Amino acid sequence: MSKANADKCSFCEKSSREVDLLISGANGNICDECARMANDIVIRSLTQKKTKNAGFRLKKEDLAKPAEIKTFLDQYVIGQDDAKRYLSVAVYNHYKRLMQKVLLDDVEIEKSNIIMVGATGTGKTLLARTIAKKLHVPFAIVDATVLTEAGYVGEDIESILTRLLQVADYKVEEAERGIVFIDEIDKIARKGDNPSITRDVSGEGVQQGLLKLLEGSVVNVPPQGGRKHPDQKMIAINTKNILFICGGAFDGIEKKIAQRLNTAVVGYTASRNTATIDRNNLLQYIAPQDLKSFGLIPEIIGRLPVLTYLNPLDRTALRRILTEPKNSIIRQYVKLFDMDNISLQIDEDVYEFIVDKAIEFKLGARGLRSITETIMMDAMFDLPSTNENELHVTHNYARMKLEKASLIVES
Ligand code: ADP
Repeated sequence: MSKANADKCSFCEKSSREVDLLISGANGNICDECARMANDIVIRSLTQKKTKNAGFRLKKEDLAKPAEIKTFLDQYVIGQDDAKRYLSVAVYNHYKRLMQKVLLDDVEIEKSNIIMVGATGTGKTLLARTIAKKLHVPFAIVDATVLTEAGYVGEDIESILTRLLQVADYKVEEAERGIVFIDEIDKIARKGDNPSITRDVSGEGVQQGLLKLLEGSVVNVPPQGGRKHPDQKMIAINTKNILFICGGAFDGIEKKIAQRLNTAVVGYTASRNTATIDRNNLLQYIAPQDLKSFGLIPEIIGRLPVLTYLNPLDRTALRRILTEPKNSIIRQYVKLFDMDNISLQIDEDVYEFIVDKAIEFKLGARGLRSITETIMMDAMFDLPSTNENELHVTHNYARMKLEKASLIVES
């Protein structure tokens, strides 16, 4: 570096007139542009160092066993035991596959991509997000609704991997061992059951594209996502070791399950089977052929060998969701008020009231938050500017706030 010149940036040698700001130090100056650039370099190299140290590298002793993974999930997600068990095992096996050394005995562990079926708001995304906290490999959540076949408006299928690449800090080797959660997979189902009548661009074409990823192949990924264009440099990623977890509501699939069960029970075991079928929760009987009747192509179903379901949330589950999870809705409000030194106290019957309303409005778990938010809104607006240090929410208070809000909606 040249000797400090009072009027020049010691890095780029621009004079103070050429820059917006020149900061002087003991032995030199730095202009705003160079300072910004330096800041970027610092952030980039520190993150790189951190990722390198924390590493996505796997050691057997670091790995949580399936039961531990499930216990962890239990802290955040209420119920859904089956889905939790399937997920825990799948993730654990994924690690084992990755750790598999050179094949000595020709036993290659194949990957078991997963598909989770469950009504909206029952915790599919929550499960995926929660498991991500415990993972030692890059994890990305993507939405299937934006995907379209190449040449149509929307995003190319390969963009699913862009997100993973970003999470892995563009380290291809890391991304190639990651896990991708594809939400709303049901939205790319073929609309009719008969593939030969119409060519359904939004559905089947996308499924064919997705199949390539699930099977394991080398695909060119646009590093910035979106549509591929000729000038963009692509990054080649091999999906052989990437675990795919798919989730979808599959609205109306219960009808297909019921149809199948009804046909199945016409046979010789009919009387026993029909009696034991729980008609209120048909999803628990889901089988691969139901996904086919819904409009997923058989090849995709074959590549998603682990099929699990989520239960609808009943009253008891909703009540537990309000307060039990580690970051439950109520705990979050208690914390929000606490940050203003206000202690929040809520009567037990208020919880019941919130659950009642969520059921009445058919909003499920998602409704719990919006109803609680409506009840707390006025207090959250007013209290921080007063000297109050306590808020006691009674049944009456909750009802009043909710009524007031619905009056506004109705008028
Ligand atoms: P899905 O992906 O199945 O549509 P989400 O996982 O996005 O549903 O759930 C929406 C919200 O509802 C979550 O953010 C969470 O607050 C709550 N929720 C849903 N199911 C559960 C559950 N089983 N345990 C705890 N909270 C839940």
